[in-house]
Amino acid sequence: VIPALTIDGPSGSGKGTISRAVAGRLGWHYLDSGALYRAVGLAAGWADIDFSDHGALVRCAFDTAIVFETAGTDEPRVLVNGTDATAELRTETTGAAASAIAAIPEVRTALRDRQRAFRQPPGLVADGRDMGTVIFPDAQIKVFLTASAEERAGRRYKQLSEKGVSVMLDGLLREILARDARDAQRAVAPLKPADDAVVIDTTGTPVDAVVERVLDLVPA
Ligand code: C5P
Repeated sequence: VIPALTIDGPSGSGKGTISRAVAGRLGWHYLDSGALYRAVGLAAGWADIDFSDHGALVRCAFDTAIVFETAGTDEPRVLVNGTDATAELRTETTGAAASAIAAIPEVRTALRDRQRAFRQPPGLVADGRDMGTVIFPDAQIKVFLTASAEERAGRRYKQLSEKGVSVMLDGLLREILARDARDAQRAVAPLKPADDAVVIDTTGTPVDAVVERVLDLVPA
């Protein structure tokens, strides 16, 4: 079996940074499942799809071409239907669109096999909300990252500011809390740790220390 390490948690818990670093250290593949939901949300917006038209959203989930250009260790470029959408994918507007379409069960099913296809030798680090519970329930190692809401908003703020996206911290905190509440309360694949996940609270913990703790879980 191909090894899989799942890293789930709410937005701003450090999942992306830590998953990428862990994948780099292990030399494993990396799946940013949130980027798939974001890409579909974005493509649906571009196509002017009415977000109450679930049939159209499901077709969009099947049809949207999503390509990760992984050159180097930095955040990869993401092409959505052939257009470089790397920056637009990260905005909180796209995050909200992703969260809306992610609540539709058939959209999640449409993306399921695309996510599983990332599990290739020598191994996969999968980052998301339901990696350990739904997509890779048989993963050998499962991690659930948490952090206080203020810390998570602060991290997103820093990330976005560094990319030149101008945002207000208090607005961002409100949006993140609203998105997390929706993700946790939805009927399908609600955000929660798998029974066999190791829960790590990253509040006030430097990235390197969290990366080491996760790597410690991987058998040599
Ligand atoms: O992790 P990220 O912030 O990029 O995810 C964007 C949104 O996509 C989340 O708020 C969530 O609603 C949805 N998502 C999901 N399942 C995943 C990854 C993301 O429902 N595995």
